[in-house]
Amino acid sequence: MLFKDGVAETADLRNIFPDEERLNAGPVAIIECFQKIPCDPCHTACPKGAILPFENINDLPRIDFSLCDGCSLCVAACPGIAIFVVDMTYSEDKALLKLPHEFVPLPQKGEIVPLLDRWGEIVADGKVVRSVKFKDRTSVVWVEAPKDKALDIRAIAPQAYERENPLREIG
Ligand code: SF4
Ligand code: SF4
Repeated sequence: MLFKDGVAETADLRNIFPDEERLNAGPVAIIECFQKIPCDPCHTACPKGAILPFENINDLPRIDFSLCDGCSLCVAACPGIAIFVVDMTYSEDKALLKLPHEFVPLPQKGEIVPLLDRWGEIVADGKVVRSVKFKDRTSVVWVEAPKDKALDIRAIAPQAYERENPLREIG
């Protein structure tokens, strides 16, 4: 449950996900930001105006999916690592994910990396397509992932990730 353990569930995600038609139309940002905090760099980072202006700095972000082209600048700008980009049109059986990554070493092109769901469980392996490092922002790693797991994946496991996950005990 989101406000007990910080893990978003289906009911939390229903209102913030693009519909199937938009998902199948090309890359799009998904914003999993559920806590009202004074924060808005996602909005100011978006060159397309897709993340709508905040009326109050504590507002939750709202996105116009029709304006988003999946550039991932908001992914790099978000201090809460709350945004990722998914491209379901990448290939027949693979989606391309653009995931924030704050660990070192940064995974490099061609590397196979374990992919984590919202519980921190490894749910698939992915192949790194590109790593984008910024001087003052979060790095963004582009990774191929199985299409049927794409919407469950939220992170790349850091090196030496513990495969036993204590979070499951809490849930
Ligand atoms: S992915 Fe790019 S276009 Fe889409 S919301 Fe983020 S910054 Fe804007
Ligand atoms: S930058 Fe990230 S944490 Fe801040 S409001 Fe936007 S999505 Fe939420």
